Amino acid sequence: MPDGDAKRLLQQAAAAKWAKFCPRCGNPLSDRFIDEERQYRRVCPNCGFIFYLNPKVAAGAIPQQDGKIWLVRRNIEPSSGCWTFPGGYVDLGECVPDAAVRETYEETMLRVRLDRLLNVYSYGQSGIVMIAYCATVIGGTAGITPECREIQAFGLDEIPWNDLAFPSTREALAEYVKLEASKK
Ligand SMILES: [Zn+2]
Repeated sequence: MPDGDAKRLLQQAAAAKWAKFCPRCGNPLSDRFIDEERQYRRVCPNCGFIFYLNPKVAAGAIPQQDGKIWLVRRNIEPSSGCWTFPGGYVDLGECVPDAAVRETYEETMLRVRLDRLLNVYSYGQSGIVMIAYCATVIGGTAGITPECREIQAFGLDEIPWNDLAFPSTREALAEYVKLEASKK
């Protein structure tokens, strides 16, 4: 029988019952307690496939140009209408820095060079790990794209703190501002 800890984990798994069928053979999945991991997983009784539910990895960049940073106003849910730095999910087969550069171009039309890792932002309840970079614009012209209704360069004292899209947006920009201040 599962102990208290395992029961807690089972409840977490129950929230993830949306995974109904085995992606490998199409059989319905069921909950099975995995002894080695001391927790329940969604498992295929037919082929043994374990459906691991992990956070998705997202990559973002804060593109700096002439002392200002480019932010975009999202045109899609979640947080449509709010500001964020460009970013998105890392594709399988792509490395994280490449994804940050690609997403920045797709959302801003700007070509960037990544200068350094800013930080990694991870929250237990959100299911996303955001890896954010400090970047410098090296080409392109800022333009709107289907995912973003507006793009604007903000001074570090002009960031729209009350209209930011996600907790990671706020935390990353706060750390960015602090980092830039420490350079002076
Ligand atoms: Zn299967």
